[in-house]
Amino acid sequence: MTTHLDRLLFAQGGQCFFCRKPLPKTEASVEHLIASANGGTNDDGNCVACCKALNHLLGAKSIKEKMQIVLNQRGSFQCPGNFAQQTNAAPAPSATAAAPKPVPATTNSTSTAIDLVQSDLKKRGVSRPRKVSTLTSTIKALLKQQQKPHSDAEVANLIAALQKRGKLTITDTKVAYKLG
Ligand SMILES: [Zn+2]
Repeated sequence: MTTHLDRLLFAQGGQCFFCRKPLPKTEASVEHLIASANGGTNDDGNCVACCKALNHLLGAKSIKEKMQIVLNQRGSFQCPGNFAQQTNAAPAPSATAAAPKPVPATTNSTSTAIDLVQSDLKKRGVSRPRKVSTLTSTIKALLKQQQKPHSDAEVANLIAALQKRGKLTITDTKVAYKLG
């Protein structure tokens, strides 16, 4: 013949109402949600099967206190003094650590040849080449040194670009700078 406890256990799929671990009948007891002492009935609607240890802990506490105890467990509920070997609960999926943001590939600070030349000339101060021919060879040497070899024609284009920028003016073969 089935008892009240049997019925509750069956309805709960053989698990403790609170911790949901497989609950052998020998470890189970009927918990009156509203304690009998507080006027709780013996109806199934007021009863759950749970681990004896928890039932003992909850005792005749008010439903509010019981709720608090349950809620305080947060997440995976563990009944106190859970019987014997606990079934190895699957480890909670650790919140996958937020992948560190990929560091943006440092934009190859390819300060373009023209910027390179411009800043070099600025550094030279009064010792800037005064003649176009000297300027050309100076620029060629600089770019070669920076692993950016330029042909005469390309250097001529650079000088033209610098003129466009207003950084220098050329009169005949003479160069004047406005590098600030
Ligand atoms: Zn339990």
